Amino acid sequence: MTTSSKPRLVVIGSGWAGFYLAENIDLNAYSVTVISPRRTSAYTPLLASAAVGLFNFYLAEEPVRSKSRCALRFIKANVLDINFPTKTCRCAPAFDEDPQLAQDEFDVDYDYLVIAPGCQPNTFGTPGVAEHAIFIKNVSDAMKVRKTMFDLLEKASLPNVSAARAKELLHIAIVGGGPTGIELTAELDDLCQDELRHIYPQVAEHVSISIYDVAPHILSAYDNKLHEYATSQLQKRHIDIAPNTRIEKVDGQALYIKDKGRVPYGMLIWATGNKNVALLERIDVKLSEKGLKRILTDDRLRVFNPGKEGGVHDGVFALGDAADIEGASLPTTAEVAVQKAEYLVRNFNELAKSSDGAGTVSAFTQPFKYSQKQLVSYIGAHDGVIAGKGPNSEGWTGRSAWLAWRSGSLMWNRNWRSRVMIALTWILNRVFGKEIARM
Ligand SMILES: Cc1cc2nc3c(=O)[nH]c(=O)nc-3n(C[C@H](O)[C@H](O)[C@H](O)COP(=O)(O)OP(=O)(O)OC[C@H]3O[C@@H](n4cnc5c(N)ncnc54)[C@H](O)[C@@H]3O)c2cc1C
Repeated sequence: MTTSSKPRLVVIGSGWAGFYLAENIDLNAYSVTVISPRRTSAYTPLLASAAVGLFNFYLAEEPVRSKSRCALRFIKANVLDINFPTKTCRCAPAFDEDPQLAQDEFDVDYDYLVIAPGCQPNTFGTPGVAEHAIFIKNVSDAMKVRKTMFDLLEKASLPNVSAARAKELLHIAIVGGGPTGIELTAELDDLCQDELRHIYPQVAEHVSISIYDVAPHILSAYDNKLHEYATSQLQKRHIDIAPNTRIEKVDGQALYIKDKGRVPYGMLIWATGNKNVALLERIDVKLSEKGLKRILTDDRLRVFNPGKEGGVHDGVFALGDAADIEGASLPTTAEVAVQKAEYLVRNFNELAKSSDGAGTVSAFTQPFKYSQKQLVSYIGAHDGVIAGKGPNSEGWTGRSAWLAWRSGSLMWNRNWRSRVMIALTWILNRVFGKEIARM
């Protein structure tokens, strides 16, 4: 502990987990520092809608710094390493436009450490993907989707471009048939069926969307009836669904598919899942062995110390996509990340009360318990799928599923002002049409 009366709580990452913690921890009790290369936290479930102009980009993210939480310290840096015995994080400034600055490394000391660096997109080592694909992780990615779409429409509209070339340019290839890939497909298809037909009447008919997945079907987290329904609804709208498809490599113009060969594309979106961030491989923690590598914790989210049989690192916790409770195999979702962050906030705040004599010592006595909400995905044209809860529930589809998804996606945004702005934009879009061409 420092000479200051407050313990130093350092949070690595400003995503769903880190941001929730920073927003809700008692700043009178802890001196909180968030270290992250990003000064905002993205509302990831809103990115697909932002990409197609359903509302302004700034409504799909939240800044870490705010007037109401000015005691919070933010450091724009990457954590390179953690020295658990000395309780120190080694950091490098993170400024893309000034990479030299990364050499000016520094240390940040902690009393408590929360590790939440999330994951990075997994390219499965497919050559060319890192250079040519768009990944959907942040608002800057959603902006890239919108800009690329409009650039392609303008290129296809040039007088010297043939119909055959326009078709190639306007082929949108989406790799990954999970909820992220499908919701983006749904939103892009809605955009093409509505606004783009009027704004680009000469070329909109050439737009086509394909979904590629190595799995035998899309939306595999849903039962057979629901993913078959989603497949047939998307196919009715002429979306090409290619399951059991392996992409061997990509270049700037085409995908190279096993047993099929070269398929030209204009925009390639890669949404195939997660890979661990580099930090996890550098620090002295126990990692899960199967599938995605995640930091293993006990059921109080304390990080195991591999050097101490059954022991944990003192004052160190991990959560979000980068961590899992040993034996639990919880999904990599915002829902899990936020529930774990709520658990930590509750217990840290309780701990602060008990250490100043105001509360009982009940912090971290109860284990974390996950409560799964319903799985909902949008499949376009005001239709959705909702997985049933419990063994006898079949789930449902249709307009009510879409409405549940839309209202649920509004609630992902934690800022009331932004929620009102989004709802207002939806109403204005409905009455006057989207302002996509302006955005
Ligand atoms: C498009 C999309 C839609 C989604 N929709 C849903 C949904 O509808 N429902 C749902 O439950 N989940 C959804 N998810 C999943 C959800 O976004 C993730 O589970 C969630 O972001 C995990 O939170 P996290 O805090 O662990 O990681 P992240 O949100 O990824 O944040 C990690 C943070 O750590 C930072 N960081 C990384 N490395 C370092 C380092 N070395 N040092 C310091 N900082 C570092 C990153 O820059 C980032 O700020 C969606 C994901 C995507 C991409």
